[in-house]
Amino acid sequence: MAERNPEPLQKKLSDRLAFYEDLGIGLFYRDRGTAVAPGIEQGFETSGAASRSNVSPQEEPTLPKRALKPELPKVAHVVPPAAPKAISLPLPAAGPSLFEAVNKIANDTLPRVREDLGECTRCKLHKGRNKIVFGDGNPKAELVFVGEGPGADEDAQGLPFVGRAGKLLTQMIEAMGLQRKDVYICNVVKCRPPENRQPEKDEVATCSPFLLRQIDVIAPKVIVCLGSVAAQTLLETNRGISQYRGQWLEFRGRKLLATYHPAYLLRNPNAKGEVWKDLQKVMTVLGLEAKKGKSA
Ligand code: SF4
Repeated sequence: MAERNPEPLQKKLSDRLAFYEDLGIGLFYRDRGTAVAPGIEQGFETSGAASRSNVSPQEEPTLPKRALKPELPKVAHVVPPAAPKAISLPLPAAGPSLFEAVNKIANDTLPRVREDLGECTRCKLHKGRNKIVFGDGNPKAELVFVGEGPGADEDAQGLPFVGRAGKLLTQMIEAMGLQRKDVYICNVVKCRPPENRQPEKDEVATCSPFLLRQIDVIAPKVIVCLGSVAAQTLLETNRGISQYRGQWLEFRGRKLLATYHPAYLLRNPNAKGEVWKDLQKVMTVLGLEAKKGKSA
C-alpha cells in the first residue's frame, strides 16, 4: 500500500497542482506503480478549477486522483528555448516626467531610503495608514515586482503582498523556480489608500521618487509591473495595460515587463495563462533554466 504523505505536504502539493492547472500546465509524471482512477488514462488533464470544485467531500481525495511522483513539476518543461529580444515601445507620456528630477544618489542604500522616508506625512495617504509598507525581499534581487499599493493585510503587517493576492504572487514566484526571498517586492505608494481605491496622481507623484530610489539601489535585471497603476507610473503613460502587457519595455535602461495584478487574477482566473506566458519570458531573460542546469 502506498505510503501517505503528511497532511501539510499533501495540501501543499494539491494547491501547487491546482495552480499549475490554472496556468494551463497539465503535463505531470504519473507513477505507473500506483493505481490510477478510472477514466484518467493520459496522466494529465487541464480541467481547471471548476472541475476541482465540483468534487464532493466524499469523492475529493487529499491528493488529486491521478497518481503523482512525490515531487513538484519541474519548470524546465515550460521554459521556452530562446530568449526573446527586448523591444522598446514608445509610449506617449502622461505629463511631465515624475523621475526626471530624481538623480541617482551616490552610495544610496535601502536602509537610507527607508530612513529618508521616515514616518512619512508627505501625502494624504498617511492619515489612514497603520504601517508604512516599504518593500521586502532581496536587496540585490535580479527581479523586482512592483505593485500598486498596500491593502488591509499589508497595512496591518507592514509587508507587501501578504493577503490573498500575495499568496497567489508567491505561487507565481515559486512556479518560476524562485522563492520570495530571491526577489524584491514593493509598491508605487507605501501607504494603504482608503477603501482600497487607486492611488491618486498627487499621491503617486509624491511617493514614487522613493520607489525610484529603491529600484536604483537594487539595480535589478528585470522589473515586473503588476497591474496598470505600477505600469502607468513607471512608463509614465495613460495607456491601458492591455496595450503593452507582456511586451519588453525599458525603464531607465532596465528591462520592464507589465503583467496583470494578482488581485485581477483572483477575479479573472482565466487570465492566469497569459500571466504565466509573461513570467516565462522573464524566466528566459533571467536564465533560470540555465542556473538550474549549472547547480545540478
Ligand atoms: S504614500 Fe508615500 S508619500 Fe504618501 S504618506 Fe505614505 S509614504 Fe509618504
